[in-house]
Amino acid sequence: AQEAYAGLRDMPAETRDGTRISLCMNAGLMADLPSLKPSGAEGVGLYRTELAFLVRRTVPRRGELVALYRRIIDAAGDLPVTFRTLDIGSDKVLPYMKRPEEPNPALGWRAIRVGLDRPGVMRMQVQAILRATESRPLRIMFPFVAQFDEFRAAREIVLAEVEREKRLGRRTPSEVKIGAMLETPSLAFAPDHFFKLTDFISIGGNDLKMFFFAADRENEMVRRRYDTLNVSFLSFLEQIVRRCEANGTPVSFCGEDAGRPVEALAFAAMGLRNLSMRPSSIGPVKRLIRAVDLGQARAVIDEARGSGVMSVREALSGWLKDTG
Ligand code: PEP
Ligand code: MG
Repeated sequence: AQEAYAGLRDMPAETRDGTRISLCMNAGLMADLPSLKPSGAEGVGLYRTELAFLVRRTVPRRGELVALYRRIIDAAGDLPVTFRTLDIGSDKVLPYMKRPEEPNPALGWRAIRVGLDRPGVMRMQVQAILRATESRPLRIMFPFVAQFDEFRAAREIVLAEVEREKRLGRRTPSEVKIGAMLETPSLAFAPDHFFKLTDFISIGGNDLKMFFFAADRENEMVRRRYDTLNVSFLSFLEQIVRRCEANGTPVSFCGEDAGRPVEALAFAAMGLRNLSMRPSSIGPVKRLIRAVDLGQARAVIDEARGSGVMSVREALSGWLKDTG
């Protein structure tokens, strides 16, 4: 399937009316990296560091992580890699980590909450990322930030580790960009202070949608009940984009929906200009983006929103079919 899109690889994802959408890939294992160049991705928008922890029997040592992260950065070459710190808990349980029984793991002790409560692991991971990065630019982000002091605390840990590396005489990144994943509705309502403090925001649509509709992403009974192209969800995304723009904060979307062409188009119409997806989705998303006029897509969505439908899917898909 990848070959079918090979001709598009070096072409930009630009709509007919001239809007550039930057497409990056999601990765989680070294084995994903060979797809980077053939897919035409502009970088790794989300590197899920927990996968390397999940496939092991014991906590990886710092040295092993440095070696792994270095291979990833080297494989990416000039393209940027955004490291996401450990996102464990909920559906991702480390066999070697003692954790309490929780009535609602998805709402429980997970991701940055674990990181801040057990800062030793977070520090060790940040050190490993710094040592692998050396003097190249660093992009690191934290999962599941629900209130902005969590981000502030995590950011301080990164900055302190950078200082420590400097003191130890080691090389430090030429540029440090620290971001937050926006995966809980609460963060969309954080004060401007938060948006100004973050160097970038990445919308984790899988979790964000789950909490927006209160519908478990793992539960087949409710998972498909709420369409991503639901008018309320799209308008929520639009508001997040506006807040980011108003504060000068770069924003991207890295949930699975970014890899679905019609969804990707709707996100672009809501103002998103950076999407990160599995590598095999880049070709299909790019093909659709290049085939449409974004202003018209936006008008179709707005008309559907004004007509009282629950989802803009039918209108958008119908328009795409009609325009060929
Ligand atoms: C998300 O929630 O959309 C996301 C990208 O993170 P994960 O799927 O790893 O939870
Ligand atoms: Mg998530």
